[in-house]
Amino acid sequence: MNPHDVVLIPGDGIGPEVTDAACRILEVAAAPVTFQVYHAGLSALERDGEVLPDSTVEAIEHCGVALKGPCTTPVGEGFTSVNVQLRQRLNLFAAVRPVRNLPGVSTRFDDVDMVIIRENTEGLYSGVENQVTPDVVMSMKVATETACDRIARWGFRFATLRQRKKITVFHKANIMKLTDGLFLRCARQVHQAEYPNIEYEEVIIDAGCMKLVQDPSQFDMLLLENLYGDVVSDLCAGLVGGLGVVPGANVGEKLAVFEAVHGSAPDIAGRGVANPLALIMSSAMMLNHLAETRDDPSCRDAAERIKSGYNLALADGCLTRDLGGDLDTKEFVAALVDRIEAPAS
Ligand code: NAD
Repeated sequence: MNPHDVVLIPGDGIGPEVTDAACRILEVAAAPVTFQVYHAGLSALERDGEVLPDSTVEAIEHCGVALKGPCTTPVGEGFTSVNVQLRQRLNLFAAVRPVRNLPGVSTRFDDVDMVIIRENTEGLYSGVENQVTPDVVMSMKVATETACDRIARWGFRFATLRQRKKITVFHKANIMKLTDGLFLRCARQVHQAEYPNIEYEEVIIDAGCMKLVQDPSQFDMLLLENLYGDVVSDLCAGLVGGLGVVPGANVGEKLAVFEAVHGSAPDIAGRGVANPLALIMSSAMMLNHLAETRDDPSCRDAAERIKSGYNLALADGCLTRDLGGDLDTKEFVAALVDRIEAPAS
């Protein structure tokens, strides 16, 4: 089988450092992919005068799959987030973020194994904001039955395919009766009508956050609207060692963009100390996606080699600084390279 064309977006800040690292690991693991580099974010603004050039969107539509570094969005003013635009333009409606303990990474809890499913296209990220009077500004939280039903179906289907046991929806429907109420109603309906095999519960988000930090093992899969999913993803990252170890995928009906949960980390950008593991883990998710959707078992084999390599390296105490170790990005990549088995010829 020919290698799969994948769009590579280096991104901003630590983006180029972690995407370089991920590409090196994919190469060492003999992953059957060929990268086509396109830009988004501040780097695209400098090159093309826009943060999300049509050429980048079209390339992802053509290849079907992208690996993306984080992109910077200035706070307060300026352009809409490139990440929000990308997810909305490509209709990548589901963000999937597995959160698990890793060998050698010591954390407060040692039995965390969750998957977060975040609705990616609406809620307070609709971008509908108004200045009503000089004194009043408004941000619109949008929920549609189409998107709420779609993400619920996607979540329950994922749970069934991955043999997960329970889905918990975090919500604030006691206050936002219409928007969060709709999100809950759709999840409930999909559960009752089609997925009685999966346990289902609803938890008000403030209490849910407390329960998460008291005992995360009581959760299996979390289903969340956009903003809650964003915030709770970082909280959950903190349970397993931080943003350096949580991968992610943004998935639609046909397209998928794989990226770490973390941002462009401007505070450490250019210093060569970023932890590339979250993007390397995202690359392994990408290979598994290619294996499933293109019926190519060699992608799954490469993903397994990568996974075994980083598990061995972590268990041997090879850790970057964010995890309490002293390796820089290049040293960590070298430790992985040493431990990735050559493919059987
Ligand atoms: P951030 O995730 O970039 O950083 C938060 C903290 O975690 C920082 O102290 C950073 O140094 C640390 N950190 C993050 N990733 C790390 C890694 N791989 N290795 C070591 N340490 C790491 O969040 P932020 O500071 O809130 O956001 C910075 C920028 O990134 C903003 O412009 C934001 O909009 C953007 N952002 C982009 C994405 C994306 O592209 N998907 C996601 C989140 C934030």
